[in-house]
Amino acid sequence: MAPHAIAEAALGGLRQQLTGDAIAPGDPGYDEARAVFNGMIDRHPAVIAQCETGADVARAIRFGRENDLEIAVRGGGHSVAGMALNDDGIVVDLRRMHTVIVNPVERTARIGGGATMSHLDRACQPYDLATTGGRASTTGVGGFTLGGGSGWLERKFGLACDNLVAVELVTADGSTVHASADENPELFWALHGGGGNFGVATAITLKLHPLQAMSMMMLLFRPEEGLQVARAYRDFLSSAPDELGGGLFYLTGPPEPFVPDHLVGKLTCILLITYAGPEMEARNVAEPLLALPREAELIAELPYAELQCMLDDPPGQRNYWSAEYLAGFPDAAVDAFTARAGTMPVPSSSQHILFPMGGAVAAGPGDHPLPWRTAPWAVHPFGIWESPADDERAVEWVRDVRAGMRPWSIGTVYLNFIGLEGEDRVLAAFGEENYRRLAAVKTEYDPDNVFRLNHNIKPLQPAV
Ligand SMILES: Cc1cc2nc3c(=O)[nH]c(=O)nc-3n(C[C@H](O)[C@H](O)[C@H](O)COP(=O)(O)OP(=O)(O)OC[C@H]3O[C@@H](n4cnc5c(N)ncnc54)[C@H](O)[C@@H]3O)c2cc1C
Repeated sequence: MAPHAIAEAALGGLRQQLTGDAIAPGDPGYDEARAVFNGMIDRHPAVIAQCETGADVARAIRFGRENDLEIAVRGGGHSVAGMALNDDGIVVDLRRMHTVIVNPVERTARIGGGATMSHLDRACQPYDLATTGGRASTTGVGGFTLGGGSGWLERKFGLACDNLVAVELVTADGSTVHASADENPELFWALHGGGGNFGVATAITLKLHPLQAMSMMMLLFRPEEGLQVARAYRDFLSSAPDELGGGLFYLTGPPEPFVPDHLVGKLTCILLITYAGPEMEARNVAEPLLALPREAELIAELPYAELQCMLDDPPGQRNYWSAEYLAGFPDAAVDAFTARAGTMPVPSSSQHILFPMGGAVAAGPGDHPLPWRTAPWAVHPFGIWESPADDERAVEWVRDVRAGMRPWSIGTVYLNFIGLEGEDRVLAAFGEENYRRLAAVKTEYDPDNVFRLNHNIKPLQPAV
């Protein structure tokens, strides 16, 4: 018997209880079931409960607790630190719970806890409805939304969590709780950024918005032009409409038809402009940026669900990312940002990203536990590479970007954009007052810290 194998009888009992399946080491499909986006994560759970219903989730949680197994919760598997997995514990795998029901009259979507952005976007597209989603179609709606949720539409429609209408949650004792503005409002508040700390979301209801047209302009520059482009972009954003999103990227020029030969496989600077509206309107609005001399461009009006897949990378590469949220982007910060493009590992799938914030992100609800939303800019070094031989260089590059941007940092950070960087970073992400309030909610719903494989909010210690 393997050292941490669960007794066959107990496993058989779980299998009988679940509508879904339970996969253990040695079972067919075990290795596929334990793979996550980040290829550096190689963990071996004792059992993976492939849940199909809320009742399955409750049974899996109870089974984990009765058998003293650490509990991990898996949605899209995109956490860079691999928090959807553990060694020798139980994984509550939600991926089969991906049904999305769109209500076009109320303009809402009820989304299964294991749905990906692609499930959501494709269900909404026929109704010309959309909401703020992550920039990769395979990201889980659950982890994304409960952590905050930043995407191309955020300046217009706010963060994903601003669009939360209701959450159905299975808590640490296996009971089902509903949270909305009217029901358990303190828990509802905590779910706006507090992640998976309070339970497993089996269904999430999000507000949708009419979106008749979406446009995208990708302008390609030589890296040495990046400094001028970044300054022009910064100045332009100070008065840009909220329909405009996107970001400034340095990346390895991909072998695509729109990329000129001299940039393929080489460091390339890309200004990506997304616009929630038709192409002609987008061109008018972005005129000052379209006046910049460039190497190539790709401009199109396209369905939002298609835009959402455009940056998809295959899973299984090696990942390390971090972020700094900036109080401003003065010339010295532009210099620091562009200088670090030159040290990025190339060729690789890594991206050195500047995201504009503002609009509905900054103007959004002040009562959510997310102080970083007031920052006008975010720098997101997104290291993705293939060979273990490049691990040190890639990780060092990400850390150097963080260090280089720290003079302009507001000191707080969006946790979905970072790995495990210590308790201080979690505290800073919410601020002390919010953290205390979140800890009180944690104490009520998960006093034993059963859900701790996340950016963990610790329950309050009982008074002695
Ligand atoms: C390629 C890529 C692109 C990304 N782009 C963006 C982006 O544009 N914007 C952005 O904001 N973020 C982005 N992210 C980050 C992403 O939002 C976070 O990694 C998020 O946590 C992923 O959620 P998941 O369900 O896919 O991941 P998982 O690894 O499955 O889960 C992450 C955490 O959330 C918890 N969790 C997941 N689902 C549930 C649930 N239903 N109930 C309770 N807890 C749950 C897990 O237990 C775990 O702690 C990106 C990540 C990748 C890999």
